[in-house]
Amino acid sequence: MGSDNPISPDNAASGLSQEVLDVLVVGGGIIGAGVCRDAAMRGLRVGLIEQHDLAFGTSSRSARLLHGGLRYLAQGRVRLVRQASLEKLVVQRIAPHLAMPLPFIFPTYRGTPWPKWKLRLGVKMYDLLCHHRNFGHSSTLSREQVKSLLPGVNTQRLTGAVRYYDGATNDARLVIDTHRSAARHGAIVSNYMRLEDSVHDGGVWRSQLSDTLTDQSYEVRSRCVVNATGPWSNRLPNSQISIRGTKGVHLIVSRQRLAIPEAVMMTEQKRIVWAVPWADVVYIGTTDTDYSGDPEDVCTSPQDVQYILEVTNTYFPAVHLTESDLIQTWAGVCPLIANPRGGPSDVSRSYQIKIAPQGWIDVAGGKLTTYRLIAQQTVNHVGRCLGRRLPDCRTADAPLLEPGDADGVSSVIPPPVTEHAVNHYCRNEWAIHLDDVMVRRTRWHHYHIDADVIAQQVASWMAGCLGWSETRQQEELQRYRRVLN
Ligand SMILES: Cc1cc2nc3c(=O)[nH]c(=O)nc-3n(C[C@H](O)[C@H](O)[C@H](O)COP(=O)(O)OP(=O)(O)OC[C@H]3O[C@@H](n4cnc5c(N)ncnc54)[C@H](O)[C@@H]3O)c2cc1C
Repeated sequence: MGSDNPISPDNAASGLSQEVLDVLVVGGGIIGAGVCRDAAMRGLRVGLIEQHDLAFGTSSRSARLLHGGLRYLAQGRVRLVRQASLEKLVVQRIAPHLAMPLPFIFPTYRGTPWPKWKLRLGVKMYDLLCHHRNFGHSSTLSREQVKSLLPGVNTQRLTGAVRYYDGATNDARLVIDTHRSAARHGAIVSNYMRLEDSVHDGGVWRSQLSDTLTDQSYEVRSRCVVNATGPWSNRLPNSQISIRGTKGVHLIVSRQRLAIPEAVMMTEQKRIVWAVPWADVVYIGTTDTDYSGDPEDVCTSPQDVQYILEVTNTYFPAVHLTESDLIQTWAGVCPLIANPRGGPSDVSRSYQIKIAPQGWIDVAGGKLTTYRLIAQQTVNHVGRCLGRRLPDCRTADAPLLEPGDADGVSSVIPPPVTEHAVNHYCRNEWAIHLDDVMVRRTRWHHYHIDADVIAQQVASWMAGCLGWSETRQQEELQRYRRVLN
């Protein structure tokens, strides 16, 4: 397993502040990671800063689907769906360890806005938009087939189902592995480093950064700045972007309670809720409600839980899930391009790249699935701002990792709990706190019912690797419990 970034946070900060960068990327989510990798691969001198851990924001709180978006097809957004359908295949090509075929069963009921005939056409078109190279071929299922595949499913007015395919990924791992690739191509990546201010002076951007671990300040000079801060985008100085935040929540239950062999698509009027099997558990979501609070504070409310349980229990009345079935939940804020008209579910999932004079570039919106294309277009703009003709983009073909680099550390299903993996995260993947490993490097926090016991073991391994004292180990456990409860 190769080492990607043996640079310590101190060294990363001094590396950033030594000479003038071509581009400083602010935000270590999937968009920032994609821009950073692409820019580094095209030979630019690039630095990336993230105020918390890499993938701290929306990019570790999504539904983890590589999808074209059947729902958007129903809204007639063919271009958007086509783009995402092709990009999901790109992720499969460059990161096969993070793209698992995921069949969806979409049960159909008489008297709903989702009749079987319409969906049959829809899923055929969905396959077509992938140039017939989708993760699997769509088909239709009879009422009897649905009853035997989905024990306990509501059979009142059931007419059958369609089956179609998308991909299952691991959002946070896609972010981390993209950063690993960027670092291999020379990018300087620094987590726990916040942009405080940025002014254009003497032909360069002078950005004031604060190291949130040590409270030290740094100045970094760059010719361009890319603001890729997702739901935080409109809070940055110089930002010209307007974001509409919507909150999405997922619940995790045991697969023994909801024994579905494949993902199930459930509808509630215009809204869609997925139940997605993830080895021994199933996650169900999402809600979709307007959110204007601080993205830092987003959390699951009793109403969110109620809504998801109600939709699931309408589809699976015999299962009758209750709050006592919940293993974990997660909540995130979707950074949508503002459109004051229409409800949250109507707001476009398209993206926006705004270029201000002097090389400040805002990029926001879109989806995890389309991150690479968004990054490519952003870096094209960086080239224009620099007045340089950049080499062609290679991110659609070059693998994210070298063969063997994902083994035991990066996958859709959480890796086994091992000291070897924990050491790797600390040495090569910028893990600094216990929650960095438990949540974003591994997902052990969300997956294991005894996550707290695992956290104690992981803390002791991290202590060995990072030289923590007993006090620091206890502080990390307290932080882990505080941050996540
Ligand atoms: C519930 C939900 C489900 C979703 N499901 C899917 C899905 O299944 N498939 C799909 O394709 N898409 C999905 N999406 C959309 C997708 O997750 C987002 O579009 C994507 O993750 C946004 O990435 P980002 O990099 O723009 O933002 P983020 O991941 O939020 O990254 C922004 C980062 O900027 C950092 N930052 C902010 N301010 C500063 C500062 N001053 N200095 C330094 N760093 C800063 C933040 O800490 C944050 O980590 C979903 C979204 C939600 C909310």
